[in-house]
Amino acid sequence: MFGQSPGRIAFLIIVTLMGAGSVVAQESGNATQQLTRQSEQFSEKIIQVADNVYTAVGFSVSNVSMIVGDDGVVIIDTGLTLDDASRIAAEFRKLSDKPVKAIVFTHSHGDHTGGAAAFCGDTRPQIWAHENFGSEAAPLLAAGLTFQTARGARQAGFKLPPEQRINNGVAPVRYPKCIGRAFVTDNATKPTNFLEGERQTINVAGVELELVSSPGDTNDQIFVWYPAGKVLFAGDNFYRSFPNLYVIRGTPNRSVRSWAESLGKLADNDAVALVGGHTNPIVGASKVKQVLNDYRDAVQFIHDKTVEGMNKGMTPDELVEYVQLPENLASKDYLQPFYGHPNWGVRSVFNGYLGWFDGNPTNLFRLSPKSEAERVAKLAGGTDKLLAAAKESLAADDNQWAAQLADYLLAINKGNAVAKQLKADALTKLAHNMVNATARNYDLTVARELREKPEPK
Ligand SMILES: [Zn+2]
Repeated sequence: MFGQSPGRIAFLIIVTLMGAGSVVAQESGNATQQLTRQSEQFSEKIIQVADNVYTAVGFSVSNVSMIVGDDGVVIIDTGLTLDDASRIAAEFRKLSDKPVKAIVFTHSHGDHTGGAAAFCGDTRPQIWAHENFGSEAAPLLAAGLTFQTARGARQAGFKLPPEQRINNGVAPVRYPKCIGRAFVTDNATKPTNFLEGERQTINVAGVELELVSSPGDTNDQIFVWYPAGKVLFAGDNFYRSFPNLYVIRGTPNRSVRSWAESLGKLADNDAVALVGGHTNPIVGASKVKQVLNDYRDAVQFIHDKTVEGMNKGMTPDELVEYVQLPENLASKDYLQPFYGHPNWGVRSVFNGYLGWFDGNPTNLFRLSPKSEAERVAKLAGGTDKLLAAAKESLAADDNQWAAQLADYLLAINKGNAVAKQLKADALTKLAHNMVNATARNYDLTVARELREKPEPK
């Protein structure tokens, strides 16, 4: 989820545990209530999902599971931090004191790998991962691209005070000690064994597991099938939210088509329990089947309908109106846009296939934002009129338009304090009507940035 820089195995240090669902006192809108209720999905608990299989939910931002074998246990994913993982390890030891013989990373994101050291005792366990482990972050690191960290902090709400945070859509609130600070993990928690090719059966401590390559959330994603207990561990290709087909912190393109294919492979197993990378597991054969089929259908629909619209010559802005999830899927509680959003998936499908050019030649060489804004202001009868219209829109709760008008004013003069305040107010009002936690956090963080007084020279 968090997408650190596993090329040098980077992750964040967390100190403050805010607990799930810091309820925002002043807000009581429907969206806020819905997002607040989602926190039930990651309240702290150990769930027995099958014989010998336990999942720790809510102790860390992601799920950590244990399968108890004959003479040892296998751990699947390890949480974000050593502190979180140590608490989980202590809970697991109450259930089994057998040594950890293997760890499986479902993918390389730091929120699933950062706590590994808590499960490594004196004897080093096998640590399994996909052969592409860490490949998503590698090109960004090589390019020296760092702004993803700032956007990631906005999306996660790290700079928001507790009363402005609800949750992260599929994870409880956490505060990192230092944002974006990477440190090198010791070699003890680097993967030692790699899944090569499509699938591989491994046997550790009497536990037989099938590791299956399943690109989607990342291209180093694997899912784990435990046939003896009929349990699927899906990694971040599944959690109870519309999936993050595109992440607003910015990531290399995620193949929506591959994600749907991987969900189809998951659904092919007759599982009685489905453990996602985040949120409560799904238990019960028919429920698992329905959830996976719906989830696959939703992702496939976004892909196919977008391609259909693209073949009609539609641009991304038109496509987000054209592609509407059918009601039988849009109404499902596990497909609400708490974390990912269908619109972003649509834009991502377009961008993944055709790149930035939307096909409209007007947009090949657009006026600069300032040149466009000056012309719009002239049309409006001057910047005062533009400002008045923005204020009117805000008062009428036409908040998106108010933000766009404020952007014109800021394009003309980026130091315009009134326009900054107006945009901050528009973003704040927009955020309070959002079920999507990442957009909500991003809006509220940028609103705070706009309200900050410039540093004295
Ligand atoms: Zn995750």
